Amino acid sequence: MDILSLAFQNIWRLKEWSISYPDQWRQKDGVNCGVFVCTAAELDIKGTDMTNEPLNQVQLGHLRMYHAACLIADSVPKGKKVRESCMAEAIHACNYYDSTRKGQSRPLYPHVQKEDWVKCETCNGWLHKDCACYEPSQSGIFTCGCDLPEPYAFTSTLTSLRDKGVEGLISKERIKELKEMLDSGERKSNRMFLWQNPGGNRALKTILNGKPTCFNEKHMNDLIDLIKPTLSLDYSLFSNIDFVIDVMVPEATIDILVRFEGFSRFYAE
Ligand SMILES: [Zn+2]
Ligand SMILES: [Zn+2]
Ligand SMILES: [Zn+2]
Repeated sequence: MDILSLAFQNIWRLKEWSISYPDQWRQKDGVNCGVFVCTAAELDIKGTDMTNEPLNQVQLGHLRMYHAACLIADSVPKGKKVRESCMAEAIHACNYYDSTRKGQSRPLYPHVQKEDWVKCETCNGWLHKDCACYEPSQSGIFTCGCDLPEPYAFTSTLTSLRDKGVEGLISKERIKELKEMLDSGERKSNRMFLWQNPGGNRALKTILNGKPTCFNEKHMNDLIDLIKPTLSLDYSLFSNIDFVIDVMVPEATIDILVRFEGFSRFYAE
């Protein structure tokens, strides 16, 4: 390790790192170093203590398959699904597929070739990263929300709402930022899709518009009153009013829940 710290001191500034030597499974061959490194890294992130017993070839074979499967599963080429679908499809919250038709789900963005996925470490269910609002910088363990208590009390959101009103939950800057993210497609939203492609998916639209929210009517109106002047669109056009009510209000609500309650997008839906 001292050699490494010397060799990479200018690249990763390893000198500033604290170095520890946790127990890990012992390698006795010359071919499985990658398997050992990946395993040790994964178990360390998960906080699992390891012993330093050696592994046999059968165990190593399984581990090699496991890591290979994880690597492949991280990027599934479209049309060649090798695992279950996105959990959000079941509640019509998937931003890639419309599953309102029985037996077949239709892709919303047929041109998207690569779908990024994230797995819930608690229930082992899969979500598109965009359906989870999973940020690449987020490290550690992802849970979809299945481990949260039911019924959920929304304590931080409602406390802030009581003290500071709707403006304490989301700033005008954030509202503008959200609109930009939706416009550019950086934030995927099946609501935005429907607004941009009206007419096509009536069943999905009905379901999305009928979704309940944790806010009461007054707060909803406050939110609408905050969003409308912030975006300064031409509200003599019905489509812009639709945009505020059908896209921006739910997207802002999801954004609030993701930030205030630490929800995944899937759970906020
Ligand atoms: Zn090797
Ligand atoms: Zn999805
Ligand atoms: Zn889960």
